[in-house]
Amino acid sequence: MSNYRLVLGLEIHFHVKTTRKMFCGCSADIYEADPNTHTCPTCLGLPGALPVPNLEAIKKVQLLGLALNCELNKTSLFDRKHYFYPDLPKGYQISQYKYPLCKEGFLELASGKKIEIDRIHMEEDTAKSFHEGQYTLLDFNKSGMPLGELVTKPVITSTDEAVEFSKKMQELIKLLGVGDADMEKGQLRLEANISLRTPEMEEQRRLPDYKVEIKNINSFKFMENAVTAEMIRQQELLEKGERVVQENRGYDEATKTTVPQREKEEAHDYRYFPEPDIPPMLFSEEYVTELKKQIPELPEQIERRLVRTYSLTSKQATFFAHASNVDLLHKLESFIEANIDPQEAAKNLINRPETRELSANEFSQKLKAQEARITDESVLTPYVQEVIDEYGEVVVDYRNGKENSIEFLVGMVMRKTKGKADAEVSRKLLKSML
Ligand SMILES: [Zn+2]
Repeated sequence: MSNYRLVLGLEIHFHVKTTRKMFCGCSADIYEADPNTHTCPTCLGLPGALPVPNLEAIKKVQLLGLALNCELNKTSLFDRKHYFYPDLPKGYQISQYKYPLCKEGFLELASGKKIEIDRIHMEEDTAKSFHEGQYTLLDFNKSGMPLGELVTKPVITSTDEAVEFSKKMQELIKLLGVGDADMEKGQLRLEANISLRTPEMEEQRRLPDYKVEIKNINSFKFMENAVTAEMIRQQELLEKGERVVQENRGYDEATKTTVPQREKEEAHDYRYFPEPDIPPMLFSEEYVTELKKQIPELPEQIERRLVRTYSLTSKQATFFAHASNVDLLHKLESFIEANIDPQEAAKNLINRPETRELSANEFSQKLKAQEARITDESVLTPYVQEVIDEYGEVVVDYRNGKENSIEFLVGMVMRKTKGKADAEVSRKLLKSML
């Protein structure tokens, strides 16, 4: 792969978690439901049925956009995207073309590289088809489910970056409550647009004049394999002086190669035009300001704050910033608020699970006890010697095999040190001195 450089753009579809579907009143709780039990004239695509946009879904996509540093279009439109397929009986999908909800954002990778986002728009999902022998069966439960689509600019230059970006997107969608992003349920679907260019083209920031789209990527591993296979195929063609055809390809796991699917449509093939049944959506400055307030602190921001404010190591900060550790982050903050040393609090919460059950007060007391505890053998030895001298009978018992009697002696060392002696160290000393 030395001669050519990867140029990759991602399209990420995600189901938006709402109580009802995108343009009708049907319940969006479809994942366990029997086929065709969540349908109405609108999501069945019957003539004359009118769509009513779901504000809950729109807000969630805008919230994601704001978290990804996007600008929200103050005027946003729904458009009809025309194509014919059995799972789309209207003959068009309601989507967005010129005026998506969100535009021009970015997501920062761990390396500091910003992956630019071109747009995030909202659309309706199609029905689901099942092929059985010569028949095709259709389930309309999924038809009209709210779907967001994020499109990056072609700025991704390695499979690692593509996987990291997708994983971060999945985490963010879940963190914001935008969706469940379960890839096995098809709630998060990835598509990769792949082409190669020479180092000179990269220097001149010139893009290749083609791209190959790999659809239906349903796991991160799949993406890694599919992109690698497609890079090898394109490199071989280019080295032979051949042209790479712009098309859709699928990845065949058995042969570890990509295979052609239907030719990619140009945008005009879809004959986009504004959806006449839905007026333009206008969003005020106040609306956007209100929405911005709903964005919680994001993992990267938490990480930076913990390192900057409390001097945690970046490894410790990453632990507390992870979405699944939000309860521990709150615990950490309550400890710090109670004037506990941030380092001590972080170390204990990470390494000693029993600490996680303590209140700030209890933890504070435990720390004080730990500080006061005598563990130094040279300090304890005189106390141990005293106990051995004073309790000769018990010492004899121990030497005659009554092993339990050592606990009495440990107790006496504790009494002499007013409870400050470390029991473990005292026991060890007693054993060695007896
Ligand atoms: Zn419906």
